[in-house]
Amino acid sequence: MNQTPTIKISCKNLNKIYRSKKTEILALQDINIDIADNEFISVVGPSGCGKSTLLRIFAGLDEATSGDILLDNRVMTGPGSDRGMVFQAYTLFPWLTVEQNIRFGLKLKKMPKPEADQIVEKYLSLIGLTDFRNRLPKELSGGMKQRVAIARALANKPEVLLMDEPFGALDPDTKGNMQLQLRELWENEKHTVIFITHDIEEAVFLSQRVYVMSARPGRVIADIPIDLPQKRGLDLKDTQEFIHIRKKIHRLLHSRDFGNNLHATN
Ligand code: ADP
Repeated sequence: MNQTPTIKISCKNLNKIYRSKKTEILALQDINIDIADNEFISVVGPSGCGKSTLLRIFAGLDEATSGDILLDNRVMTGPGSDRGMVFQAYTLFPWLTVEQNIRFGLKLKKMPKPEADQIVEKYLSLIGLTDFRNRLPKELSGGMKQRVAIARALANKPEVLLMDEPFGALDPDTKGNMQLQLRELWENEKHTVIFITHDIEEAVFLSQRVYVMSARPGRVIADIPIDLPQKRGLDLKDTQEFIHIRKKIHRLLHSRDFGNNLHATN
């Protein structure tokens, strides 16, 4: 018997209008999204369709004009450590080492040192940077920095991991490797993840479901289940099934001028 999945986080009838003295921008219109516990979903859409705005509202860093965000069925207000964030721009503390960056939130929570040590060791090893523990961010490559940012977010055991184009600034090879590592991390540990990207291929590779948004005002125009094997390698991207889903999303984004601004080339 199929069990109904528990909804971890959702947004209901969400609208966002940016108002200034002269202008009014309807950035998000009537967004309804449900994300199950431990589900990995992506949101794709053309540049300016409101993806980052939506993520910031999920994070509590920005407020919706109307509508609600529910976390575990409770209306959520403001930011909290229940949501971990990873952004495109590298956001590590430059004066702290790799290890200290990962430990940062645990120290803030006043977690006893032996317990924090275990968590830090686990994530240093999971991201393959145990030997780089004493390095400063400026001594790391872009990919390494993002691995530390992901480890720092996950070490805090967030209820939901929010990722805003985290691999957007990386070269294609590093980006592919990071996608693979993130997917493996998710397969092994299972987290609820909301991943924002304008890269369709990236969204399909990483996710169980992809929400497709229209150009401004941002609306959800499709909710696409990704029926691909759970265990994924980069060669999956060359399979017929993968290409079929990727093209389907591409067509959706370009239909009825929904995606006339799309930056993605795939
Ligand atoms: P995306 O992440 O999809 O590129 P954004 O969420 O950054 O889109 O922006 C959505 C729309 O809202 C854009 O038209 C953008 O110019 C506008 N916008 C974003 N932030 C602000 C702001 N702080 N004030 C006014 N307009 C904004």
